Amino acid sequence: MKTHLVLFGPPGAGKGTQGQFLSKDLGIPFISSGDALREGINKKSETAEKMYSFIKNGELVPDIVVEEFMSKILDQHTLDKGFILDGFPRTVHQAEFLNIYLSKINVNLYAVIFFLIPKEEIVKRISGRRTCEHCNAVYNIYFNSLKDDAKCERCGGNLAQREDDKEEVVIRRIEVYEEKTEPLIAYYKNKGLLSEVDALGTVEDVSKRIKEVLSDRA
Ligand code: AMP
Repeated sequence: MKTHLVLFGPPGAGKGTQGQFLSKDLGIPFISSGDALREGINKKSETAEKMYSFIKNGELVPDIVVEEFMSKILDQHTLDKGFILDGFPRTVHQAEFLNIYLSKINVNLYAVIFFLIPKEEIVKRISGRRTCEHCNAVYNIYFNSLKDDAKCERCGGNLAQREDDKEEVVIRRIEVYEEKTEPLIAYYKNKGLLSEVDALGTVEDVSKRIKEVLSDRA
C-alpha cells in the first residue's frame, strides 16, 4: 500500500511524536518542515538568518521561501512507497504547491490526518516540551517525568526548550495557525482527504486511533 500522509493540526498536537513512530512502523520517511528548517538554520547561510527571524517570532516563513526549501528536502528522499509530512503544507498556497510537486512524481496524497486538540491543552504541552538538540526526539516534562539533567533516550543528546516554545511565542504561533493554516481544513475536506483524530490521551492511545483511521481508509 502507498501511504502518503500529511499530519495536520496546531503546534503541540503531537504530530512530530506520532510521525516518528509511524515512520518506523511503516518504513517510510518522516519529513518535518520545522526540523528541516532548524537544521538548515544551523548551517548558517544568509537565507537561514532570514528564516530564523520568522521562526523565533512565531511567524510563518514566507510561502515562496519555504516551498523552494521543501522541494529540495523532498527531492532528497525516496517517496514512492510513502511519506509522512509534518508541518508542511501550512497554507493553501503551500498545499497547491505540494499538489504540483506530487503530480510531477506521480504520487497522490493518501490522507491528511487532522489532530484535534483543545487550545488550552496546546500551551501546556508546548511549554513542557523538550527537544533533543541532536536527533529531534520530543519529550515532555509533564508526561515523561524528566529530571533536570536528562539526556535523550535515543541518542544521548542534550534536551532543550526550543526558543519558539516559550509561552509568548506559542500564543503568536496559535494565532498564526488559526489565521493561515486552519483554512486547510476545508481545503482537504473538499478533496475527501481529511480524517480527524482525537489527539488527547497517551502517545499509545493516539497512535492506535491513527492506525484505526488508516485501516478504515484502506
Ligand atoms: P514546527 O516545528 O512545525 O512547529 O515549526 C516551527 C516553525 O518553523 C514555525 O513556527 C514556522 O516559523 C516555521 N515553519 C515550519 N514549517 C513551515 C511551513 N510549512 N511554512 C512556513 N513556516 C514554517
